[in-house]
Amino acid sequence: MLGLLSLLAVLCFHFPELLTSHEFRAVYSEQFARHLLLAGLVAAFVLGTLAVLRDRGRRVALLGVGSATLAVLLGGTNVKFDAIGQTPYSLGMDWFVLSLFFSALVFVPLEHYLGQRRMSPLRNGWRTDLAYFFMGHVLVQFILILVTASTSTVAALAAFPALKSAIQSLPVWAQFLLAVFVADLTQALLHRAYHNIPWLWRFHAVHHSSREMDWLAGSRMHLVEIVLTRSVVLLPLLMLGFSQPAVNAYVILVGLQAVLAHANLGIRFGWLEYVLVLPRYHHWHHARHGEWIDANYAIHLPLVDMLMGTFRLPRDGSWPQEYGVMKLETVPRGIVRQHLMPFRRTRHYDDHVR
Ligand SMILES: [Zn+2]
Ligand SMILES: [Zn+2]
Repeated sequence: MLGLLSLLAVLCFHFPELLTSHEFRAVYSEQFARHLLLAGLVAAFVLGTLAVLRDRGRRVALLGVGSATLAVLLGGTNVKFDAIGQTPYSLGMDWFVLSLFFSALVFVPLEHYLGQRRMSPLRNGWRTDLAYFFMGHVLVQFILILVTASTSTVAALAAFPALKSAIQSLPVWAQFLLAVFVADLTQALLHRAYHNIPWLWRFHAVHHSSREMDWLAGSRMHLVEIVLTRSVVLLPLLMLGFSQPAVNAYVILVGLQAVLAHANLGIRFGWLEYVLVLPRYHHWHHARHGEWIDANYAIHLPLVDMLMGTFRLPRDGSWPQEYGVMKLETVPRGIVRQHLMPFRRTRHYDDHVR
């Protein structure tokens, strides 16, 4: 992984206009990226060589060392570039590389030592989920454009100036808490619709098709669902006029909590499980069990489910036996077939829906 990510990083240095996103570049410095690339290359060589010497996963190790070598041959950390020009469209390859690197760095050891189940990061379906992770990050700009286009006009039409100024007079932390509640309530109502309306369930079934739950599994989401959910959730935040720092803090929280909620973490959180959505809470939402098909829609605050009457959490600290949709055969494997699946006419999904 380090070898391949290093190779992609070198390509980002060669083609910054095309492969890196203007918005995300503002978050990190060129120096930081070069240092990290150097560390990644060294680690890929050392770990790959050790694996070959110990005869463990030789093919994978050679792939890693090979791609790190190619990265060095292509210029490594010394690739020079001029001022980065503005392009109408670019990919978020830098966002993908950095996000995957740091998520894996945090969650792979955490899940290994504190996992609720023992499983390899390379479990069944990891390629599919990694492909979703790749798509969601690399296409970030296009997703953003679609979300902005669909929300800005509606938000401009439905404006409540008095309410807006009342909200903006609140301190940022209060705006943030209110934004999280409003966004989660909207998300949970839409989420419940995904589970109850057959044609919406077709899209959401993709997310529920993961048979194994870990930090990467949450990435599995149909592109239509990504755009629709983000637009619908962003709409009330824009209409109510929350300040930019409050919305930004909310967006960061969504990113973290959506990954955390799917993670394979067996830590006991006690009463905190009733205040915040944590892995066990969302894992029950993914349970492959007839009695659990209408529960735990929130992604931030269990309070939202309590208000909707859909809050459920076993008091004994137990976890689901199995994850996935009720009829496994209705969702195909692989990102391409899963993206086509909702548009096929022949299948009947109605019996999945409550
Ligand atoms: Zn769901
Ligand atoms: Zn989920």
